[in-house]
Amino acid sequence: MLKTISGFERIGEENAFTVLARAAELSAQGRDIINLGIGQPDFPTPDHIVEAAVKALRDGHHGYTPATGILPLREAVVRRTLQTTGVEISADRVVIAPGGKVTMFAAILMFGAPGVEIMYPDPGFPIYRSMIEFTGATPIPIEVREENGFAFSGEETLALINDKTRLIILNSPANPTGGVTPRAEIEILVNGMEKHPDVAIMSDEIYDSMTYDGIQSTSLLTFPSIRDRLIILNGWSKTWAMTGWRLGWSIWPDGLFENMRKLAVNAWSCVNAPAQYAGIAAIDGPQDEVAKMMAAFDRRRQLVVKRLNGIENISCATPKGAFYAFPNISKTGWQAKKLATALLEDAGVATIGGPDFGILGEGYIRLSYANSEENINLAIDRIDRFLGK
Ligand code: PLP
Repeated sequence: MLKTISGFERIGEENAFTVLARAAELSAQGRDIINLGIGQPDFPTPDHIVEAAVKALRDGHHGYTPATGILPLREAVVRRTLQTTGVEISADRVVIAPGGKVTMFAAILMFGAPGVEIMYPDPGFPIYRSMIEFTGATPIPIEVREENGFAFSGEETLALINDKTRLIILNSPANPTGGVTPRAEIEILVNGMEKHPDVAIMSDEIYDSMTYDGIQSTSLLTFPSIRDRLIILNGWSKTWAMTGWRLGWSIWPDGLFENMRKLAVNAWSCVNAPAQYAGIAAIDGPQDEVAKMMAAFDRRRQLVVKRLNGIENISCATPKGAFYAFPNISKTGWQAKKLATALLEDAGVATIGGPDFGILGEGYIRLSYANSEENINLAIDRIDRFLGK
């Protein structure tokens, strides 16, 4: 037997990719599958962004770039950050990475080790816990509950901090719940963090511009008191429908930037050059396609909530952000993962069981409403029929 370092026996998965593969397999067998499983916009990347990448290739941008990304792209991130948060950051603190995920990977690697604790939202993006366990650190869930609109509590989060805590991971707007944590709650947390100057924060703001009903998401960057220990995770995947481009950005404090830069040099050298030029076009170009996409998501959100609430024994809170609904299925008598499997295998609807996002996900399933209204209606007809059997 080959002996790897320990940790790989603990590393987890993102079940959305497993469900995506199974859905594709069933489709290839001729089954009619509606995919509400994977979290990616069903819209194409806007044309002008694609054209910018094609032009970059034709202009000869075929080589390595600086490991942290080309300066015009990092400057575009500075402009975008100023526009969305009102905060002026330095391009020297921005790192362009191959996707948003890489930022959490790097941040957790920097702090995780046996004997330390890292806090993360539960239910939450599954890679947080997976990577924490990989490093040997102890994962400490921050409970996110339906009765609080799936927002995290500032007080509860503070109460979990002890002298082993090294990093707190936050995510709003959130996957898988669509919850948006109100500014007042974040303020409580930030004020309390003054007593814990050695604890870092990673704020996953990848859904920052995907909110509804006039609600604004709050960037942790807008709190100056924690900026010296704050890592921001963001990227192009969701806002500009660019999941397959593998393009993300991160903002690092002075004390961590060099670690991230060196990780980039060691691991990926740089993000592919044409994608970086596309990233500039995404930020600086017209945003009307983004607005159209958000209007469509909003219509689908209302449809999915209305339709789910029409099914006996299911209740669905209205998500305030991202493109996920997280209905409560506990009254159906089904365990969530079993229900998700049965819905895929027997009813032809791909969803993800809540426990794939954490212990507190039991009793829920996640539906990504990045699909047409027609397919959403069909999928919910099938779920209704399946549960009525
Ligand atoms: N963070 C959250 C909360 C996500 O939901 C996702 C993707 O689903 C990511 C990060 C990763 O984004 P990317 O595809 O850019 O790596």
